[in-house]
Amino acid sequence: MRVLLALGGNAMTGADGRARPEDQIAAAEVAMAAVADLLSHDVEVVLTHGNGPQVGNLLVKNELAAAVVPPVPLDWCGAQTQATLGFVLMNALEAALAARGLARPAAALVTRTLVDGDDPGFTHPTKPIGRFLPAGAAALLQGHGEVWEDRGDRGWRRVVASPEPREILDAPAALSLIEAGYVVVAGGGGGIPVVREDGRLRGVEAVIDKDLAAALLAETVRADVLVVATDVPHAVLRYGRPDAVELGRVRVAELRGHAREGHFASGSMGPKVDAVCRFVERTGRRAVITSLDNIDRAVDGGSGTVVVPA
Ligand code: ADP
Ligand code: MG
Repeated sequence: MRVLLALGGNAMTGADGRARPEDQIAAAEVAMAAVADLLSHDVEVVLTHGNGPQVGNLLVKNELAAAVVPPVPLDWCGAQTQATLGFVLMNALEAALAARGLARPAAALVTRTLVDGDDPGFTHPTKPIGRFLPAGAAALLQGHGEVWEDRGDRGWRRVVASPEPREILDAPAALSLIEAGYVVVAGGGGGIPVVREDGRLRGVEAVIDKDLAAALLAETVRADVLVVATDVPHAVLRYGRPDAVELGRVRVAELRGHAREGHFASGSMGPKVDAVCRFVERTGRRAVITSLDNIDRAVDGGSGTVVVPA
């Protein structure tokens, strides 16, 4: 069985969102302990991960150091976080496997995701990134071509395109490594967004939703199950209300219906639900949304929100 496991931001930073290197290493150790338990069964695991806090930190460095070293574009930030997080995850995974008397080679792949240059996100950016700034500081960056929005009391915030992932360009390399027995880390942060222009690839200033990219990666590497690991054990109807209910096993058509009724917040649970629905609709296979400590049981449908074909 081949499992595509998408790790949320909380698996990559401290519980309170702290992102010092030691916080990230500690979080990766917890996450990779769960992955090592999973690997003790006879499964292949492909990992992907978020990078929101890490890119946020790089953007602050860009901003503060702009007068001294040239700022780098968002696609470079994505590539940098894929490399750093890949390194941290590989170290943590190898240690967790060794502690269990297991050995599996791991490889992290710098991964490009193709998007359309005419995606509406490039003319109407919607994805907020980085920290809030006062109007003056935002105006300076707007002068450099960035789009910033007035968010009221908290200040101004940069918005970028969040284009639809079309193709995971480096999936063939991932597949070769998987077939050679590697635990592969790929598509981190949704992949580095690139467009094809005159037969050449060019990085673009955008952020691809990591859950939607995970669904496409899962399909491309022919995963048997997509597991989206986050900080809650289930997708929930009427989330946060006294009459909330956790979703267990659910047919994809039914889950789409709940999504249309607005049960899942757009910046958090919404894309996860969309991602698992896409995977199940396109492949007729199973997908699960659950928390990291449940992934071992989630893989065989024993916990979490388990989405099955209609
Ligand atoms: P990740 O970093 O793993 O991608 P997100 O913060 O983006 O995590 O999404 C998970 C969060 O979604 C949960 O912590 C929860 O607060 C929120 N959420 C919003 N709507 C729902 C819902 N209907 N059911 C469960 N969680 C929800
Ligand atoms: Mg998220």
